[in-house]
Amino acid sequence: MGNGEMDSSFAPGPILLLGAPGVGKGTQAKRLMSAFNIPQISTGDLLREHRRNHTELGKTAEDLMIRGELVPDELVNEMVASRLNEQDCKGGFILDGFPRTLAQSAWLDDFLERRAGMLPVVALNVSVQEGELLRRITGRRICTQGHIYNIYSQPPRQAGVCDVDDLPLDQRSDDSEAAFEQRMKLFYEQTAPVIAHYRALGRFSEIDGALAVEAVTQRIREQLLVLRHAAEATGVDR
Ligand code: AMP
Repeated sequence: MGNGEMDSSFAPGPILLLGAPGVGKGTQAKRLMSAFNIPQISTGDLLREHRRNHTELGKTAEDLMIRGELVPDELVNEMVASRLNEQDCKGGFILDGFPRTLAQSAWLDDFLERRAGMLPVVALNVSVQEGELLRRITGRRICTQGHIYNIYSQPPRQAGVCDVDDLPLDQRSDDSEAAFEQRMKLFYEQTAPVIAHYRALGRFSEIDGALAVEAVTQRIREQLLVLRHAAEATGVDR
């Protein structure tokens, strides 16, 4: 399947990228965003922006995020609602890092159901062996514009400097080993049931996140096509 071939007639609709911390959701979401011309909505990025801007939400979120805890559902849902109400989300969007709890998925399902003309959600669960995740998390470096590198597997051309905009690369404050353990614990307790929920609804695929970045993107694109066509064939889309 050629790249452009798929995109001209493909209606992406709402896409959920699910998976543990470090599986590559952010990297993949950014690649899909440019492939499908729909926005990537990362709740982690939105919260980090609130922290940089010192908003009330940012102040509440800061300490929780550094410790690897979750920000309360109502606050995150409200933040997502105002983003999804923006014009650029009409044709679809990629949610990355949301929903992370069953309360968030119930809220999202209800929010989207009330939206006239919105295609049903398709969900993809990206997974990688846990041993590899810690290496990915501790090796991750980002610039303030959100470009993502890994000192082991995807280093920048010049150490510590973003290839795209020459900004310095930093480590996220929650990419420590201690915070990672807490994030994984919450992933198993709170987010695994969300994955089970979308698996049970159908329009769901498992993606092997251990493959090379390009190969993962390709699998995701193929699965999105399959899932959207399956939904059309059964008439649930219209
Ligand atoms: P991420 O960039 O997706 O790894 O998110 C970084 C941190 O932001 C998480 O560890 C949480 O503290 C917070 N966060 C991001 N998304 C959510 C969410 N959907 N619900 C609650 N907290 C979130």
